[in-house]
Amino acid sequence: MPPLIEVTHPRGIYLPEADLWLDPHFGRERAFVSHAHSDHVARHGLTICTEITHQLMVVRKAAKKAGIVVSPQMREVFEWEGWKIRLLPAGHITGSAMLHLTRKIDGATLLYTGDYKLRQGLSAERCELMQADTLIMETTFGLPKYHFPPAEDVIAQMLAFVRDTLRDGGIPVLLGYSLGKAQEILCALGDEGLPVMVHPSVAQITEVLAPHLGKLPQWRLFKADEVTGHVLVFPPGSKLELPKMRTAMLSGWAIQASAKYRYGVDLALPLSDHADYPELHETVEMVKPRRIYLVHGSTREFAAELRLRGYDARALGKEDQLELSLSAH
Ligand SMILES: [Zn+2]
Repeated sequence: MPPLIEVTHPRGIYLPEADLWLDPHFGRERAFVSHAHSDHVARHGLTICTEITHQLMVVRKAAKKAGIVVSPQMREVFEWEGWKIRLLPAGHITGSAMLHLTRKIDGATLLYTGDYKLRQGLSAERCELMQADTLIMETTFGLPKYHFPPAEDVIAQMLAFVRDTLRDGGIPVLLGYSLGKAQEILCALGDEGLPVMVHPSVAQITEVLAPHLGKLPQWRLFKADEVTGHVLVFPPGSKLELPKMRTAMLSGWAIQASAKYRYGVDLALPLSDHADYPELHETVEMVKPRRIYLVHGSTREFAAELRLRGYDARALGKEDQLELSLSAH
C-alpha cells in the first residue's frame, strides 16, 4: 500500500506535497475553492475551482485582481504536476465541488469533500463520491440528533405555509441565504404559478445561476408598494417590516427545537445543504478510507465515534488549538 498523502493544518487545511491549500480563509499561493460561500472565498495566486464558482466569485467581487484561475470540467481528469485532479459534484449548492487527488508516482488518493450533502437537492448536481485512501470531510451536523426529514416533506410544508398565508391575505416571506438556499427555494416554487419578489442580493446571484437551474417562477426585484399577492425570498436577518407578513426560515439548524424563537420567525423548516449524521456515516462507508480527517462542527465527537468503529479518524485543526493553549500558559 502506498504511503498516505500528508495533510497538515497550519491555520487552514494544507497539502504540503502538492503545495495546495483547501478552502483557505486567507490569500495563498495555490488554493482549491470548493464553492462560493463567503467563508471560503479569498484572493489566491492560483485558484482551482469550477467555472460556476469562478463566476460567483467574480459577481461577489472576491475575484478582483485574482491570479490564475483553473476550472477543470466536472469529472475530467486534470494532470497537474505530479498529480491527477478530479472535481466531483458535492451536492451542496450550484457549482460546488469535491476535490479528488491521485499521486501519480504510486496511486495514493485523497478526497476532500468541502461542504456537501448526499441527498438530491433541486439546485445542485447530485453528489458523487469516489474511493480514496485519505478522506477529509466536513461534519457540520456530526451528532446523532441531526437527522433531517426528507426534503420533499419540508418543501411540502413550505408550500403549504405559502398558500395558507396568501389565502389569509398575508405576505409569505421565505428566508434563506442568498447563495444556495434562495435558489433551492426558487426551484421549489417553480411549478406553483405564484409571482415572487426577491432581495437584491438574491437577484444578483440568481441571474448568474439561472442558466444552470431548472424551471424558476416569475421573479423580480422587491418593491414594497407592489408586494401584495407575492411570495418574498430574502436572506435571513433582513430588516423587513411589512403589515401582514409571515416569515419562514429554511435552514438545517431548524432541526433544533428552539430555532423558531432563536430566529424570531413564525416557522422554522429544516432544509439543509449539508449532510446529516446518517449521510456522514454513509460517506465513510462508501469512500472506504484508511485515514479520515474531520473539519467543522462536531469533529471531536464524530472522530471518537469513528475510532470506536475501527477507523483511523482525527479532528483536523483542533490539535493546533491545544498546542496554542498549552504554549500560552
Ligand atoms: Zn457552504
